Amino acid sequence: MSIRPIYLDCHATTPLDERVLAAMLPYFTEKFGNPASSSHVYGWEAEAAVKKTREILAAAINATPEEIVFTSGATEANNLAIKGVAETYFKKGQHIITVATEHSAVIDPCNYLKTLGFEITILPVKKDGLVDLIELKKALRPETILVSVMAANNEIGVLQPLAEIGEICRDGLRPAGGDRQIIFHTDAAQAIGKIPLDMEAMKIDLMSLTAHKVYGPKGIGALYVRRRNPRVQLAPQQHGGGHERGMRSGTLYTPQIVGFGKAVEIALGEQATENQRLTQLRQRLWKQLSQVEGIHLNGHPQERLAGNLNISVEGVDGAALLLGLQPVMAISSGSACSSTNTAPSHVLTALGHPQHLAYASVRFGIGRFNTEEEIDLVAKYAIATIKGLQNKR
Ligand SMILES: *Cc1c(COP(=O)(O)O)cnc(C)c1O
Repeated sequence: MSIRPIYLDCHATTPLDERVLAAMLPYFTEKFGNPASSSHVYGWEAEAAVKKTREILAAAINATPEEIVFTSGATEANNLAIKGVAETYFKKGQHIITVATEHSAVIDPCNYLKTLGFEITILPVKKDGLVDLIELKKALRPETILVSVMAANNEIGVLQPLAEIGEICRDGLRPAGGDRQIIFHTDAAQAIGKIPLDMEAMKIDLMSLTAHKVYGPKGIGALYVRRRNPRVQLAPQQHGGGHERGMRSGTLYTPQIVGFGKAVEIALGEQATENQRLTQLRQRLWKQLSQVEGIHLNGHPQERLAGNLNISVEGVDGAALLLGLQPVMAISSGSACSSTNTAPSHVLTALGHPQHLAYASVRFGIGRFNTEEEIDLVAKYAIATIKGLQNKR
């Protein structure tokens, strides 16, 4: 058996936790019922399992179970949120605000709406990756219907100030007593289970979630849709049997939903201790790497996911570095990652990063199953590889 590289790409996906798998297995076999079958026990037990996950997710974000709409993942949740709002509220206004560092699953639906005549403002970020709240306030217009700002960035791990943004959307532009609020959507694919999320305190109206970034299965996610103060209405993007209160038709994928609930339950239970452990591992890695000349940390040093370390190295070709590291570690580059294209990603570009070739970026995504020994090995090998490439020049 060949030795596999150490997995440090937890922002791309995470391994399924064995406890999650164990919870899912009965729902593939003996408990196979359709949760929409209301006339027999097969349906009832599937429905009970789905209900349990709704309750776990709702409790995790301080919402109610009726506000959870299951989707195939965060991509679909983002599409439903953004296009669903646009289609419902276009008569009130056709202006949407988002941020330069968003995931393509937010940027691309916005760009699509642009082709239909919507106006899209893409806010820049500060050098540390945080959105500039003054810029956000300035961008608000009477015809703004939606603001979409992610909770945690998938490349640089930066955490956006959700509560402040929620506050701005609630009353930023409106005169006191005015009834029109701007809907606030957040893509929390990287955040669920890792940082505290509270729909009420943060005044969030729509939130996209996914299971596979938090040691759950792929292919399942959810959209939180606020039901009161204000009640958010969404035009469905998939029509059919009227599942999920008409917002997303299609037979619910019970085993994946059970896994999603279990994954979030575990993550919440371990959140405080795990964040401490991951922060220590990240600091241990950075302490060693930062000894190398010409190495920089990308993103805010504290306002970031515990397991995220994103670095740039001067004097090294991005593709060459990735190739050099690959035998020992499974990581991602901060670039558009093809052998011919080493331009920095749109996220690093938004931070003001240079485009020149002799500049490499690497994203380390440390997770639940990484150990100190692995981090030390990775650090040692990465330092040697970087120095080797720098000396070649
Ligand atoms: C992974 C990710 C997505 C896509 O989620 P899927 O469930 O894979 O569709 C969207 N947004 C962010 C920030 C992500 O990290």
